[in-house]
Amino acid sequence: MGSAGTADKRGRAAGRFLRLASTALLLTILSCFAAAYADTLLGATGYKMAGDATKMRIVVNFDREPDVKWFLLRGPNRLVIDLPRTRFALDAKDVKPRGLVRAVRYGDQGHGSRLILTGKGPFAVDKLDVLKNDDGGGYRVAIDMSAASEREFDEALANQSLTTGSTVSTEKGERVGTGPVSAPGHRFTVVIDPGHGGVDGGAESSAGTVEKDVTLAFAKELRDKLAAVGKYDVYMTRDNDVYLALDERVRIARQHEADLLISIHADTIAVKGLRGATVYTLSDKASDPEAQALADRENLSDQFAGMKIEDDNKEVTDILIDLIRRETHSFSMSFAHTLVGQLSTNVGLINNPQRSAGFRVLKAPDVPSVLVELGYLSNVKDEAQLLNADWRGKAAQSITNAVALFAAAKAGTATGG
Ligand SMILES: [Zn+2]
Repeated sequence: MGSAGTADKRGRAAGRFLRLASTALLLTILSCFAAAYADTLLGATGYKMAGDATKMRIVVNFDREPDVKWFLLRGPNRLVIDLPRTRFALDAKDVKPRGLVRAVRYGDQGHGSRLILTGKGPFAVDKLDVLKNDDGGGYRVAIDMSAASEREFDEALANQSLTTGSTVSTEKGERVGTGPVSAPGHRFTVVIDPGHGGVDGGAESSAGTVEKDVTLAFAKELRDKLAAVGKYDVYMTRDNDVYLALDERVRIARQHEADLLISIHADTIAVKGLRGATVYTLSDKASDPEAQALADRENLSDQFAGMKIEDDNKEVTDILIDLIRRETHSFSMSFAHTLVGQLSTNVGLINNPQRSAGFRVLKAPDVPSVLVELGYLSNVKDEAQLLNADWRGKAAQSITNAVALFAAAKAGTATGG
C-alpha cells in the first residue's frame, strides 16, 4: 500500500511536470506568434487630454493611419470610437479622468478595438479629426468636446449615423443655442450658483459667519421666489455644503441651457466701514483695481481642488463663438444694469455698483452670467442683514423682479420700464 502509493505519487508528479513543461512550451510558442502578430496591429502610442469641465481636447497618437468610426451612447453619456484591432501602449497617468471626461476605457472587442470616453454629463463632439503628424511620426485622432445639455446630446444621438473621422458630424452653429432659438418647450431657465462650499468656505466675518453658508441660504430663498413665479425653470449648482470647482459650475449652467447664471457671493474687505452690494460681469480688463483683486480672490477657489490655474485665452478664435460671446456679454450687461436698478430700491449698494473683472465662473460663452456680491461680511451691519431672513427675502425679491424684466425683454414682450 505504502510503496504503491509512493509510486503513484511519483507518477502523478512526473505527469504534472510534463503538463507544466508543455504548457510553458505552448506559452512560448504563443507569445512568439503574439509578438509577430502584434506588429500587424495598429499601435496606439500616446494619449493626451487637456481642458476643464466645460471644454476638452483629446489627442490619441497612432503609429499609422487609423480607420476610425465613432458614435454616441447615453446612460451615461459616452463617446465610442471604433478602431481596427489595436495594441494600446498608453500611460496610465495620461488616461486618468479629468475635466469633462469621467472615465477613459479601451480594449479589444474581438474583431476590433474600442476607445470609450465617458462624459461627466452631456457633451457635444465639436470635432473629431484624423490628422497626419507633421514630424512624419504616424497619425493622431484629435477630438474637441464641450459641455452641452441632455437635449443637445440626445439630438446628436438621434441624428447620428456612424461617423468616420475627418467628417465633422455637427455644425457649431446648430449646437450653441442662443436664447431665442432654444428647444421647443424650453422655459426661461435660471441657474443659481451659491458661491464656495465644502473645503472652500469663502470669506469669513470676525464673528465667524462663513460665506458659503450665507450664499446657500440666500440662494434657496431666491430659488423659491423664482419658482413661485411659475414661469421659469430654476436650478442650483449646489444645494448643500459641497465643494464645486468653478468650471463645474459653468458646466452645470450649460447642461441646463441656462438663460441666466446668477452667482451669489459675500466678500470681506479691509475697510470695515465699506458696505453694500455689487453686481459684476465678465471682462478681460477689470473696471477697477478692487474688482480685479476680488476676481483674483474668487478665482482662487479652484486651488482647493488642487487644480492648476491656467488661462484659457489660447482658445481657438472661432468667429461664431466670438459673435455668441459678444451677444452673451451684452445680455449679461443688460441684466446687470436691470439688477442694479431693482436692488437699489431694497438693498444698499456701493458706489459704482456695476463693475467687471475676469471671474472664471462667468466664462460660459453662451450663458449670460452675473456675480452678485450681496454685501461685506467685514461690515457688522452687512453681516447682520445677510443673517436676517426679512432682508434676504427683500433682496431675493429684487433679483426676482430683475429676472422678470430681463426674461420679458428677451422674449420680446417687454412694454418698457
Ligand atoms: Zn466668494
